[in-house]
Amino acid sequence: MKTALKDMTLEELTEFFVSIGEKPYRARQVFRWLMNGAASWDEMTDLSLDLRKRLDAAAAIDCLRIADMAVSGIDGTRKYLFETADGLYIEAVLMEYYYGYSVCISSQAGCRMGCRFCASGRHGLARNLTPGEIADQYIICERDVRAGFGKTHITHLKHRDDEGRPRIGHIVVMGVGEPFDNYDNVMAFLKNVTDPQGRNLGRRQITVSTCGLMEGMRRFMDDLPQANLSLSLHAPNDEVRRRIMPAASACGIDELIGFAREYSRTTGRRFSFEYALFSGVNDSGACADELAGRLAGQGFHVNLIPANPVPGLGFEAPPPARVAAFAERLIVRGIRTTTRRELGSDIAAACGQLRSERILGGGP
Ligand code: SAH
Repeated sequence: MKTALKDMTLEELTEFFVSIGEKPYRARQVFRWLMNGAASWDEMTDLSLDLRKRLDAAAAIDCLRIADMAVSGIDGTRKYLFETADGLYIEAVLMEYYYGYSVCISSQAGCRMGCRFCASGRHGLARNLTPGEIADQYIICERDVRAGFGKTHITHLKHRDDEGRPRIGHIVVMGVGEPFDNYDNVMAFLKNVTDPQGRNLGRRQITVSTCGLMEGMRRFMDDLPQANLSLSLHAPNDEVRRRIMPAASACGIDELIGFAREYSRTTGRRFSFEYALFSGVNDSGACADELAGRLAGQGFHVNLIPANPVPGLGFEAPPPARVAAFAERLIVRGIRTTTRRELGSDIAAACGQLRSERILGGGP
């Protein structure tokens, strides 16, 4: 198997180049090329032909290949199904907002949190993704962005590269997997993508979503305080939460909210809670009031997600009027509340569904 250079930090890459008898600065050149989406050794024009040949024999550029891709006719959302070198499938979703592109990437092949409503955990965890596999999801999507597809919904493109071509503006680690169950690899990726010598993505352009693993949240607050952290709460009390998120509710809601307060104080950043609405489970007026009672007056943001029903799991989305009523009850208590717009509804964009179809032998 060829060496996966994108799994390495710049320091490790430097050691690699020294070990093959090259000068350390070669590592910086290759690191910059890789993190900015070079698709072949020949693009790396500042390397000698001889070095390019040697690298080609020893190392792979990409860790993933595109196995399938679907484009929404409604809003331009693109779903990528990637295959790893050992034949696992993972997903990423590339979205267009008026200000630019955002990519939602996966941190694990599968998941072991077992949230009852979620497609990603249905087959358990296959394995953690490596830093290079996590990186390649945005790197390969960004090649398409640079090639200039879409732009149908983008009126105020904010992020461009040195040559004026569009770039991805935001990375959200909110795809398949629990990022803090694979902390070291996720953090190695985040360090690489924000490294000024590589892609130089702003830390504020990153959002990580967790089901609430306390140790990971604490480490994240120390390691990357400028990034955004989002917590999937989905319940107004521990009883409901335990029912729908059995592993995640090892940590109680009081403790999670206590951490959120500490996080806001320490980092100076607004803390976001995600709250998926499941019909008859957590979407009543009483649930909204209970949630509001716990969250009001602390500067938190709540993002409501109408359920993406996964066939066979028995969770349904409430009608839009019920979602609006839920939001209203939080808003009157002064809680900043947004409702997630559904993107890519025509291409099975619900988390983990493309992958699930593939594993079950259906789908494309
Ligand atoms: N493990 C992380 C990130 C992955 S999922 C986390 O739990 O935050 C991204 C978000 O989608 C989470 O809030 C998750 O709970 C939610 N989600 C998963 N399945 C869903 C479904 N069927 N409908 C609505 N939201 C869902």
